[in-house]
Amino acid sequence: MTSAAQEPQGRQLVVLGAGVMGVGITTLALAHGVPVTLVDTAADVLPVARDRIRQGLRMAQLKGALPEGVTPGELTEAADPAEVDWEADPVAVIEAITEDAELKAKVLAEVTTAVAPGTPLISNTSSIPIDELAGAVSRPEDLLGTHFMNPSYLIPTVELIRGPRTGESVLQATRKLLDTLRREVIVVNDAPGFVTSRVLHPMINDAARVVEEGTASVEDVDALMQGCLGHPTGPLRTADLIGIDNLVDSLWVLYRRTGDEGCRPCELLLSKVRDGHHGRKSGRGFYTYERAM
Ligand code: NAD
Repeated sequence: MTSAAQEPQGRQLVVLGAGVMGVGITTLALAHGVPVTLVDTAADVLPVARDRIRQGLRMAQLKGALPEGVTPGELTEAADPAEVDWEADPVAVIEAITEDAELKAKVLAEVTTAVAPGTPLISNTSSIPIDELAGAVSRPEDLLGTHFMNPSYLIPTVELIRGPRTGESVLQATRKLLDTLRREVIVVNDAPGFVTSRVLHPMINDAARVVEEGTASVEDVDALMQGCLGHPTGPLRTADLIGIDNLVDSLWVLYRRTGDEGCRPCELLLSKVRDGHHGRKSGRGFYTYERAM
């Protein structure tokens, strides 16, 4: 039987990158009974991730977002992809490392050689076209994109990106995995930023530009977008939740591939990155937070 045809529960999911998204996706999978091997190459990231996963599971339970009667999956940690037990035939590999096309291409190319053909190789990139990454792997038909939102265990909808070379069997296997995780899936075609980042990220850039130009304060921009337009948190609070460093990386990806000036990150966003004010994860961004998460 091929990897693509087997049931997701009981088989490990490999998640590469234990940052904001790797932690959220891991939390979601564990809560739904899927064991996860979480990999991060940076020193000191995994212990922090472990704490955040614990907090995430608690938060998800408080919000009623956990399935009942499911034994949580087991978490395994690895400081290098070479430490993963690839022989165990993972249900899928989800790459959630830094938004850097060259780095992602290198890591995905290495992983393709380790997994069985037909194992979905999933990039959680915000903006890099899937087919660009597919050019770097030996089996482009096994590569596709998911765009989980943050926090992944609370936001029910996932954008699923089918590249021009993505095969039908990995698309179906990924759908099955997302069904197990009780996510609502919307399949879209490949393009820089797909749908959600292409629409949201330039909008957040504009919101920051409005503050930079002195038209309104951070709080007033968010209050207007919430009160008048029904945005759930306001775009600048969303920037803090995404991580302003990641947002800027994603805007550069969009700007360089579309030429759209609206995607060139504004000076206020760039200065926040330079100052280390990356949002919730660093304790300070457009707002300040009592504890980083
Ligand atoms: P992050 O900066 O919080 O975390 C990235 C992690 O990847 C870091 O811990 C880093 O040490 C690790 N990493 C880097 N190189 C690695 C390697 N070779 N092997 C293993 N780990 C490695 O970033 P994030 O916000 O979690 O974003 C991850 C991906 O998800 C990016 O592509 C981003 O664009 C995308 N994304 C982010 C959001 C969001 O709201 N933050 C939403 C959707 C998609």
